[in-house]
Amino acid sequence: MKRIAFIGLGNMGLPMAVNLAKAGFEVKGFDTTLWAAERAAAAGIALAASCADAATDADAVVTMLPNGAILAAVYDEVIAAARPGALLIDCSTVDVENARAAHEAAANAGLKSLDAPVSGGVAGAAAGTLTFMVGGSEVAFEAARPLLSAMGRTLVHCGDWGAGQAAKICNNMVLAVSMIGVCEAFSLADKLGLDRKAMFDVVSTSSGRCWSIDTYCPVPGIGLQSPADNDYKPGFSAPLMLKDLKLSQRAAESVGAETPLGRHAADLYAAFVAEGGADKDFSGIMPWLAQKSRE
Ligand code: NAD
Repeated sequence: MKRIAFIGLGNMGLPMAVNLAKAGFEVKGFDTTLWAAERAAAAGIALAASCADAATDADAVVTMLPNGAILAAVYDEVIAAARPGALLIDCSTVDVENARAAHEAAANAGLKSLDAPVSGGVAGAAAGTLTFMVGGSEVAFEAARPLLSAMGRTLVHCGDWGAGQAAKICNNMVLAVSMIGVCEAFSLADKLGLDRKAMFDVVSTSSGRCWSIDTYCPVPGIGLQSPADNDYKPGFSAPLMLKDLKLSQRAAESVGAETPLGRHAADLYAAFVAEGGADKDFSGIMPWLAQKSRE
């Protein structure tokens, strides 16, 4: 497995493609947005003229796209162009139904496929330390291992078609709830006159510790560098988090699972996105929540 098509060179896709190239794979990328394509070319990624052009002689096609509708359209082109035996790996976050439909389309064309969404954010993508949660056959998973290992540190084979996406939406529901919890705690601490650094030093080493505070602290100037230190520029955008929360709510409804905090988190992110958060990182809900508590 040598020649890789990489489709979707955005915040996550570009650093992932760069890590594949660094590991010695021949990467040909494609993105519909001019700035993303230009940024990829500047990072040394060879560019294709279309999805089909990228896929046509690739051993594996990796996709990192915004949503399931776009994935379905891209797969129409990719599957028509892919060579026999090519492996399709979708790393986007999409719903379980879209993921299964993508697998089915690939299988009907005789192609192996995996749903392989990731966790770890842009920093994890750049460092090659992503966690991949993977759905698909054992054979396809083993075939993908060298490629996934070039982009990530932890590979978990979660089960068959769609199992990776199921794991991903559960993880991101936890992430949204924990981020909101950390933001609420900082807001309350502010009101109580507690120093933010003291609050961070306690919570990040106590039982309230979680990724949302110790790795991705939502207040500026404290802890590791995070989008809060860059005016909440994404990162992982609030609309993408809202998308994931809607996916988990739809999935919860379809199987009758009760997820009240997930539902409330979805409502809060919908309000944040509607009230100015559309171009912000998901941790930008911090100043929005703090503002609410002043109103
Ligand atoms: P992004 O918007 O930065 O990147 C998506 C890219 O896809 C864009 O550059 C866009 O131009 C491109 N694109 C759209 N339609 C296309 C098409 N038809 N053909 C080719 N390219 C096309 O988003 P992102 O933050 O990189 O996220 C990508 C996926 O990864 C999403 O599904 C997201 O939910 C998931 N994800 C993101 C993060 C994060 O921290 N940003 C973390 C984990 C998972």
